[in-house]
Amino acid sequence: MRLVFVGPPGAGKGTQAKIVCAAQGIPQISTGDMLRAAKSEGRLPPDLAARMAAGALVPDEVVIALIDERTRQPDCMPGFLLDGFPRTLPQAKALDEMLASRSLALDRVLSIEVPSALLLERAVFRRADKRTGHIYHLKYSPPPPGAELEHRPDDREDVVQRRLDTYAAMTAELLPYYEGRGILSRIDGVGTVNEVTARIFQALEEKK
Ligand code: ADP
Ligand code: AMP
Repeated sequence: MRLVFVGPPGAGKGTQAKIVCAAQGIPQISTGDMLRAAKSEGRLPPDLAARMAAGALVPDEVVIALIDERTRQPDCMPGFLLDGFPRTLPQAKALDEMLASRSLALDRVLSIEVPSALLLERAVFRRADKRTGHIYHLKYSPPPPGAELEHRPDDREDVVQRRLDTYAAMTAELLPYYEGRGILSRIDGVGTVNEVTARIFQALEEKK
């Protein structure tokens, strides 16, 4: 199963991706996580780090190369879930070409939809455990005592607002592209984590 999760920052893509990947036995591939790992290991060029810190996208060629390399790894043979990629039309087209050159194609694109009024709160109160990568929310899924919490620098309110604007300007144009190909499912992302998971599995089941 080759899946893509599309949705604005804070929609719950990472939270749901971990659940779906564990159930399907496929890797979660997050370009945001890959870029943050490169940064923490000192491998991210400073101009790219500056773009991320400002809530802007990094250039298409950078993330396309990351995905090309990552999806060739043996653990991607049974499939994969892309979380946060593609984010622009050129990225989506490059992904299609990359997969077609390997005689593969995407199975489904799930758009996780949450009203903007809720997104800011979801992102600003997001915290991740440094050791496990588990995603918490200070209000909706509070971390246990002893968790080593990290607050992403781009989860500050002003930067989140910029990332939401970037999503609306760049990523929303992906939806008609995938809708036209008949592989888009829109998922209501409002409700508890379990409720949203149930909607995702239902959508995957329906389109089998
Ligand atoms: P994304 O990967 O789309 O940016 P995350 O999965 O990191 O989003 O979720 C953003 C924040 O919202 C996290 O703090 C997460 O714990 C919280 N969250 C995720 N899903 C829900 C939900 N259904 N209800 C409330 N909070 C949620
Ligand atoms: P995310 O963790 O998905 O919210 O991504 C964090 C940041 O990484 C984004 O704000 C961008 O700066 C960068 N990034 C992640 N994925 C992409 C992508 N597909 N295209 C361009 N920039 C990306």
